[in-house]
Amino acid sequence: MEQNEVGRRDFLKKSLVAGASLSAMGGLAGAQDPPKETDKKTDQDPEGQKLLPKVPRRELGATGKKIPILLFGCSQVFDPKYDKMLHRGFKEGVDYLDTALVYAGGESHKTLAPFVKQVGRENIWITSKAPPRNNRATVETYTRDLDTCLEQLEVDHLDLFFMHYVSDEKYLEKEYIEMGDRLKKQGKTNFFGFSCHDGNVVELMNKAARVGGIDAIMFRYSFGQYGDKELNKAIDACKKAKIGLIAMKTQKSVPAAQEEVIKFKSKDFTLGQAKLKAVWADERIDSAVSHMDSLELLKENVAAAKSPIKLGMSDFHQLNRLAACTSGFSCMGCNHHCQPKIAANTRVSDALRYLMYYECYDEPERAKELYRRMSPAERQIDGIDFADAIRACPEGVDIEGRLKLAQDLLA
Ligand code: SF4
Repeated sequence: MEQNEVGRRDFLKKSLVAGASLSAMGGLAGAQDPPKETDKKTDQDPEGQKLLPKVPRRELGATGKKIPILLFGCSQVFDPKYDKMLHRGFKEGVDYLDTALVYAGGESHKTLAPFVKQVGRENIWITSKAPPRNNRATVETYTRDLDTCLEQLEVDHLDLFFMHYVSDEKYLEKEYIEMGDRLKKQGKTNFFGFSCHDGNVVELMNKAARVGGIDAIMFRYSFGQYGDKELNKAIDACKKAKIGLIAMKTQKSVPAAQEEVIKFKSKDFTLGQAKLKAVWADERIDSAVSHMDSLELLKENVAAAKSPIKLGMSDFHQLNRLAACTSGFSCMGCNHHCQPKIAANTRVSDALRYLMYYECYDEPERAKELYRRMSPAERQIDGIDFADAIRACPEGVDIEGRLKLAQDLLA
């Protein structure tokens, strides 16, 4: 490792030694150790900055399979005749499709099927997911949904099947683990796991590490969470249990106007690339999924993955500052911190996630629809004391203010 290149572990160590989360450290580190010109110079690739021929690969947990570090998030409708983005990604080594029954309003699978035939099933990795319906899922619904995935994708097996949006530890009880084993034995999927977005992610990851039978987990992870000690311990536990770890939401979505505050500047990377590099710098993470809905974004992400240049201290400092400056806007879904401090049924992280869809993803209708699906009690703000929850939030989110904004914009 070059002198000023910093591995995620080194950086994390420095942050934690200071006794603060990375977010809280941001301003301090930036102020004490401003980026120097020399940081940039020592970030040069000694071999002339040549891009790697293809996106590099890492082994997914104990599966024995190497997957690209960049995965194609397929929450969109593709061109069934010839989808330029899918084919370009495939040529670059992004030969892993991450889809779900519900993606693109249920159209993702059907529009992916022609592409799978074009490149050959044996040449592409397919992960799909089945979500709970009305907050409920059973062994029967998962089993049925996997069959539907296969039917829609026109394939005889998945590489990885996820229980999607898992938020209850009961889905790691014996009957679900046995279901995963059974589906694998039946040849319907090679591997089995779950995705978790909000709430008790830490508890779910810790339990998965204890019970076994889970091959991979997809979870929300970005540069803004380096300092979350509980999450870090859960990641370590999963790594020790040889569970494959896939990061999603790596951009730590915050409104663009907020991001402009730090005026990110790097000789080597765009801000989006730097955010991905920060996740890949964590050697415990096997891969990161990205929802790539334009050729430009695909090329940018692929270039970051193929670049042998690592983030320098200057880049890390800027991300650190960004985490600090945007905390309060971005909810990381870790509601094990805030939810127990609220004496009501208000679904904080869900409401703030829908606000993110509105503010950052430019998906106002989806945001409103999801918000309005919550019951009045789950949206309640009036008469609730959020002070303890705000104190408990490691991101410094103005929970009450953001919930009010969600109510104004989405109700
Ligand atoms: S409001 Fe804060 S504590 Fe609650 S889920 Fe969001 S980031 Fe985590």
